[in-house]
Amino acid sequence: MAVMITDICIKCAACIDECPVEAIVDEDDNPTGEDTYYVYADKCVECVGYHDTPACAEACPTEGCIVWSECAEGATCRDNISAEARENHTPVIED
Ligand code: SF4
Ligand code: SF4
Repeated sequence: MAVMITDICIKCAACIDECPVEAIVDEDDNPTGEDTYYVYADKCVECVGYHDTPACAEACPTEGCIVWSECAEGATCRDNISAEARENHTPVIED
């Protein structure tokens, strides 16, 4: 996977236009049927090559809403994020 949006998302839309690879969709297009925004793991590159940190998480006003998720083999992911942070879905941006 990549980064993940959790169910505390307030659907404010701050993240969606920040994504350089259009990996984020709103609740109407969430393929899981959940009433939140959603990140397509096969599109998200964790902003590697675009930004120093994931742009969606920088833009998000909801603390802890965007978390690290598993990095699939072959996917582009940040190599300095621990497996523990991914397993525990640690927030990408923490105060
Ligand atoms: S981390 Fe970057 S590429 Fe991934 S969803 Fe967020 S803005 Fe898009
Ligand atoms: S910026 Fe955060 S709270 Fe707003 S829609 Fe995106 S994930 Fe949800």
